[in-house]
Amino acid sequence: MEANIVLKEVAEQVSVCLRCNLHYSRKKAVPGEGPANAEIMLIGEGPGFFENEQGRPFVGQAGKFLEELLGKVGMHRESVFITNVVKCRPPQNRDPLPEELAACSDYLDRQIAAINPRVVVTLGRYSMAKFLPTAKISDVHGQATWVKGRLIVPMYHPAAALHQPSLKPVLERDFTRLPEFIQQANKNVAAKAQVENQPVEPPKKDEQATQLNLF
Ligand code: URA
Ligand code: SF4
Repeated sequence: MEANIVLKEVAEQVSVCLRCNLHYSRKKAVPGEGPANAEIMLIGEGPGFFENEQGRPFVGQAGKFLEELLGKVGMHRESVFITNVVKCRPPQNRDPLPEELAACSDYLDRQIAAINPRVVVTLGRYSMAKFLPTAKISDVHGQATWVKGRLIVPMYHPAAALHQPSLKPVLERDFTRLPEFIQQANKNVAAKAQVENQPVEPPKKDEQATQLNLF
């Protein structure tokens, strides 16, 4: 099925979903938004007050900061897909419960499969845990790891950085590495395509070193 059809289907389903208790506090579900062929996906935690009102992700204070962070590396929110691990707002913005994360995960899985992003930036602990269940965010933030052919880049949540000022420069610094990770992911795809379309020229010496690092 085409990616944009899957995304539309997921958006329709979450708007009326009753799979977990978060539907009680839902005004509008927040399926996520962005191009169906986005190379980068950003995954946050869950809708907050304004997101629940508008049905769009990251439209409050944290969203403003996220746009600033993207802007610093020459990116715009329109060019990335932005979503959350739960699509309905937890009451009082509390953390999502394990049963809510489990109930909602199929929607996110289908979005990831449809979009097939090369790089996934996880914002906060809950979306990191989906890909790197044993990692500690204080250890791995800003570092990229290959998971099932995608580069996963855990970052602190922008809202956490707004509440805890010491995290702000850390998140800003981590974000500046994003173009480097995108380039790395694209190189890996190009290298794989080369392998599939044999025969290829042997790589030059300096390329050999980079390619070895990629696998
Ligand atoms: N925080 C999130 O994790 N997601 C949003 O969509 C907004 C704020
Ligand atoms: Fe359904 Fe997810 Fe909303 Fe729960 S959070 S009601 S699983 S869409």
